[in-house]
Amino acid sequence: MYEKIVPPDTGSKITFKDGEPIVPDNPIVPFIRGDGTGVDIWPAAQKVFDAAIQTAYGGKRQISWFKIYAGDEACDRYGTYQYLPEDTLQAIKEYGIAIKGPLTTPVGGGIRSLNVALRQIHDLYACVRPCKYYPGTPSPHKNPEKLDVIVYRENTEDIYLGIEWPQGSEIAAKLIDLLNKELIPATPEHGKKQIPLDSGIGIKPISKTGSQRLVRRAIQHAMRLPQHKQMVTLVHKGNIMKYTEGAFRDWGYEIATTEFRTSCVTERESWILSNKEKNPDITLEENARQIEPGYDALTAEKQAAICREVENVLQTIWETHGLGQWKEMVMVNDRIADSIFQQLQTRPDEYSILATMNLNGDYLSDAAAAIVGGLGMGPGANIGDTCAIFEATHGTAPKHAGLDRINPGSVILSGVMMLEFMGWQEAADLIKKGIGKAISSQQVTYDLARMMTPPVETPLKCSEFAEAIIKYFN
Ligand code: NAP
Repeated sequence: MYEKIVPPDTGSKITFKDGEPIVPDNPIVPFIRGDGTGVDIWPAAQKVFDAAIQTAYGGKRQISWFKIYAGDEACDRYGTYQYLPEDTLQAIKEYGIAIKGPLTTPVGGGIRSLNVALRQIHDLYACVRPCKYYPGTPSPHKNPEKLDVIVYRENTEDIYLGIEWPQGSEIAAKLIDLLNKELIPATPEHGKKQIPLDSGIGIKPISKTGSQRLVRRAIQHAMRLPQHKQMVTLVHKGNIMKYTEGAFRDWGYEIATTEFRTSCVTERESWILSNKEKNPDITLEENARQIEPGYDALTAEKQAAICREVENVLQTIWETHGLGQWKEMVMVNDRIADSIFQQLQTRPDEYSILATMNLNGDYLSDAAAAIVGGLGMGPGANIGDTCAIFEATHGTAPKHAGLDRINPGSVILSGVMMLEFMGWQEAADLIKKGIGKAISSQQVTYDLARMMTPPVETPLKCSEFAEAIIKYFN
């Protein structure tokens, strides 16, 4: 069924149910090596993945890698301008989870960006970028270890839909005419505003469906994190753009309250409710106290520190938020986009998952990556309901290609995300441990070496860095 690729003989397919992967012990995982430095980083990364899986599961689990093609390598195999062959699209769809190195953005041939095309074709609506500090990594910040956030960026609409018309074009002129003469005058809140006639026009659609599926995934992810990281912050500029950015916030809160509030019914809550039925004369709060010893342990001093307004609010949400279990629930809040940029610098430890529209998330994920040591170490994933692609976030860095010197950290950490998404946490943890120890013992590639204080004189090659990571599994 494929034109020029052959799946491995062993292994089986990953499938998806309700947006989550079902992973066999020997899954087939397609990979795109990538252009430029892809020739260096992919072999190094694959070695690390295989070693971690072998160490973690002793042969009980393994990945059968399936080589597929995109970018320059695809053109060599499939012909001119065949940057994204049908074989590749079909294999990703069929096998569910894929991983890729960087791809050159083609010049000519009518393709805007292969990465954007892959996301749109497979409806990979959530771009996920974790930004966490590995001790020893050079950083421009004094306390980079305080930042540990995951950016969930909407991937299919907002500016990524790419609908715009240039200044002076016939369609731009038509649109401006329609807006100035009919649509703006028909909207009283716009008053006498008019669009300058020499404008280019871009469209920024934000849909309820697109916003809610993104926020849903962000909340589901937060629920899997340790208690103190169970927070989702909706990032928006709703004070200026009410019906796009502001609506994203409102739809985010809507899904948090309609889909997730009831999911907090636990054994403890059921017990409290059934006890209340048996003892209708005692308050719900009294019931909760009976099974929550820590509740009474609050000192008078601490209780006094809760101001009256807060206490009143807590009382009013006592029942709807799980009879006091709001303390254990995912906290959903929101921040204006410019404010979150400041706060990531000044109070980074107050944030965990940031759910954003496309453009805000573009800026925010790069800014957060810079705090923890730059793009060379930043992993990424694009996730949809039926497949997911994990990818290095940097480009092809052509001047370093084939020299075995570039940092493979980004694609290796993308593999860590992939293993976590597959539920293979033990293998993922081994790799994180290996990377952490390699960096803290200053066994790093040139990019990190030159920024360390004092600079590391003899940096490792790309392949040597992979070997160091494997060495530090134990
Ligand atoms: P780039 O390839 O990311 O490289 C810019 C610089 O970033 C490199 O010269 C290098 O800096 C540093 N760098 C990149 N990867 C690194 C790594 N693994 N380890 C350490 N340092 C690394 O950006 P570009 O030169 O603007 O783009 C080149 C091509 O890649 C373009 O065709 C672009 O469209 C494409 N691109 C693809 C993706 C993707 O596939 N996801 C993303 C971005 C760009 P020093 O030389 O100073 O060490």
